[in-house]
Amino acid sequence: MAIRVNLRLIDELVRYGAEDVQYCYHCGDCSTVCPHADAVFRFPRKSMRQLQMGLEQRIETTLEPWLCYYCGQCSEQCPREADPGETMMGLRRWLIARYDITGIARQFFKSKTVEIISVIVVGIITGALLLYYGFSQGNLSIYDGEGAFLPSSFIHTFDLIIGIIMVFFLIVNALNMGYLTMRKGCDYPVPWWIYIKKLLVLPWHFFTQKRYAECENKRETKIFMPWFIHMGLAFGYMIMLILVMVFIEKLQYGPEIDWSVHIFGYLASVGLIIGCIYFIRSRFRKHHIQYKKTHSTDWVFVVLLLIITVTGIAQHILHRTGIIEWANIIYVVHLICVAPWFLRMPFSKWSHLVYRPLAMYFAAVRREALERQEEGLPSISYSYK
Ligand code: SF4
Ligand code: SF4
Repeated sequence: MAIRVNLRLIDELVRYGAEDVQYCYHCGDCSTVCPHADAVFRFPRKSMRQLQMGLEQRIETTLEPWLCYYCGQCSEQCPREADPGETMMGLRRWLIARYDITGIARQFFKSKTVEIISVIVVGIITGALLLYYGFSQGNLSIYDGEGAFLPSSFIHTFDLIIGIIMVFFLIVNALNMGYLTMRKGCDYPVPWWIYIKKLLVLPWHFFTQKRYAECENKRETKIFMPWFIHMGLAFGYMIMLILVMVFIEKLQYGPEIDWSVHIFGYLASVGLIIGCIYFIRSRFRKHHIQYKKTHSTDWVFVVLLLIITVTGIAQHILHRTGIIEWANIIYVVHLICVAPWFLRMPFSKWSHLVYRPLAMYFAAVRREALERQEEGLPSISYSYK
């Protein structure tokens, strides 16, 4: 079958943050130092090569960019300053756009103006709806229950609608990823039972993000901080998601503290606030190679999350201290940020929460299928880079 090449692929990738691919002369040093490359999944040199050759259809079916956790060791090692680590990051953005059937992600990654305007538009529409509902149905001086400005029953419906839209697009995009990587990109048979056998890989990597920690472990100085803080941020986000989707009535009830739910809210808030501040500070300081370049979507991602967390904490404090009018106003500001944040999740970096464990699962399935196919042949040495 003829392989179609896209000679403009390198130029296209610049918009996604991969700016120096053309400097690579394929010495292979990057793959040698990479803690995650092996004989089956060889990167980042192979990805650099595919990009230079414009093998667009090959790249869209690869798992390699998701197996990279951006430790930056390859970029530090590269004699040509081709920045392979940042290229893998750019490829992940490109793949997010590729999996997305709506084309929205591509617009966000290619133009910060489009992304910021879409956030503002969704925020304005959300704010207008909330204020209309609040002033027509309730009273600004009541926080919850009958006559409330934004009663928890209404917020529950609001959250569910946004949650259903978000989950729908995440599932569609994840299915597309599965089709591209396991059907279109797999040129050897994969027995169905291997998918069942390897199923536990999915929750294991989702909950432990073990590979991220392994990345740090291979460094001379063991710094588990980024992994630890990333875990805090991810778990804070997931706990908060469950609280607002399932326990919003208990969460909003008060002014008494309901420790059975609020303790989880406090822990989640600590994880979110520390995570946001750490990553914003790192991106300003640029003290590690992975923070040297920041794509506009990364800024929108982390700044919006920080505003959501701070306004969430503020409205909680204002409510518990009896300053109800301001609690309701800050609640509106909070929800104005929440709506675009959740709605853009399937089209943004945050979707890696789904794609990364999926990629680890698919990689495990592929490995086993390949080993079965090669039974009787010399076994693969995973130390080869
Ligand atoms: S180390 Fe640099 S020049 Fe060598 S293969 Fe990797 S990216 Fe290319
Ligand atoms: S950034 Fe780290 S994990 Fe990613 S390709 Fe480079 S060395 Fe490997």
